[in-house]
Amino acid sequence: NSSLHEVDPDVAAAVDAELHRQQSTLEMIASENFAPVASLQAQGSVLTNKYAEGYPGRRYYGGCEHVDVIEDIARNRVKELFGAEAANVQPHSGASANAAAMFALLKPGDTIMGLDLAHGGHLTHGMRINFSGKLYNVVAYHVDEKTNLVDMEEVERLARAERPQLIIAGWSAYPRQLDFAAFRRIADEVGALLMVDMAHFAGLVAAGLHPNPVPYADVVTTTTHKTLGGPRGGVILSKKEHAKKINSAVFPGQQGGPLEHVIAAKAVSFKIAATEEFKERQERVLEGAKLLAERLTQPDAVDAGVSVLSGGTDVHLVLVDLRHSELDGQQAEDRLDEVGITVNRNAVPNDPRPPMVTSGLRIGTPALATRGFAAEDFREVADVIAEALKPGFDEAKAKSLAGRVSALAEKHPLYPDLVQGR
Ligand code: PLP
Repeated sequence: NSSLHEVDPDVAAAVDAELHRQQSTLEMIASENFAPVASLQAQGSVLTNKYAEGYPGRRYYGGCEHVDVIEDIARNRVKELFGAEAANVQPHSGASANAAAMFALLKPGDTIMGLDLAHGGHLTHGMRINFSGKLYNVVAYHVDEKTNLVDMEEVERLARAERPQLIIAGWSAYPRQLDFAAFRRIADEVGALLMVDMAHFAGLVAAGLHPNPVPYADVVTTTTHKTLGGPRGGVILSKKEHAKKINSAVFPGQQGGPLEHVIAAKAVSFKIAATEEFKERQERVLEGAKLLAERLTQPDAVDAGVSVLSGGTDVHLVLVDLRHSELDGQQAEDRLDEVGITVNRNAVPNDPRPPMVTSGLRIGTPALATRGFAAEDFREVADVIAEALKPGFDEAKAKSLAGRVSALAEKHPLYPDLVQGR
């Protein structure tokens, strides 16, 4: 019954240090968020002890009566949240959700179409050394060189020529909304299934601030930890006709025992995502991203070689284009890190710099909105970012920007009463 601090002070110290890092810096990695304490409690509960292979009411282990209740709650809530006919809440992550969905719908060697990784797609949408690139014949589509928007004419042309079995619509780094109806029309025309991976924008969909792909797609996959703001994990939503195949692809196809502690935390986050408070938070997410895009297109930013892909954003992130800046993606990421803002460098389409360096940044607002940031705070953080990316960054400037970051962090305390592992 000894606590984490007593049993393992080394791990406990690193956990404490990570809590302090999250509290004292500004988290702007677009795929990250802060799970509520209620979700952390569910995930840190005794449910972690339970084996529950199978599905509620049809388990391969005894003693599942309570985890059955939890998994049923999670499935029902997520179906209602997104208006889906069927849900599987067992995938351990977004990548496992995609692997299982493809395993259910495709045979090895079938053709899939997805957005190129270098243009904003995800590894699991057909990257060469990912399972998706190794098992399936991949035809990648791209963004238009001038507009940086997904080139739907290319999607249509490639679909007609290659007759894919599956078209994947979704992204990890793209600042606009996709046209799900157009994807559906193209999929129907060539006899393909349509899978939408809404991992990034699921929270916006739940809040009614982004078109819902569920009515258009055969299958919709998502993570639960990005804009949705829950525990790390995955979900597969589908039409009823695919549900049996998908359930069998998750278990026993790809996974063994489900993580019922994570499923409980997912259930909590689905409950929260249906509230007015959650909607209000997602409105601040969108407002913050818009304010950031506006600030980074002001004349002083443009003079510093900074611009914003597609000229703005409709979602929770901004893609900063540094192709004309003296800073590369790595240097810009390091500079923001130095003042206390965490972001990730990101390749821009047709990036002239190597993938480990890149010419871009992906900056997101979900985590700060969860902390309570409102328009005036987002204006301040946008100004700090713009100042940090300009020439003339020296020790004095770094210090003054770091001070402004600390003031924002103190204004919006994160997990103020959280005690871990004592
Ligand atoms: N799908 C998309 C669009 C993503 O952006 C990501 C993660 O970045 C994933 C799937 C994979 O999620 P996970 O990291 O949980 O495997």
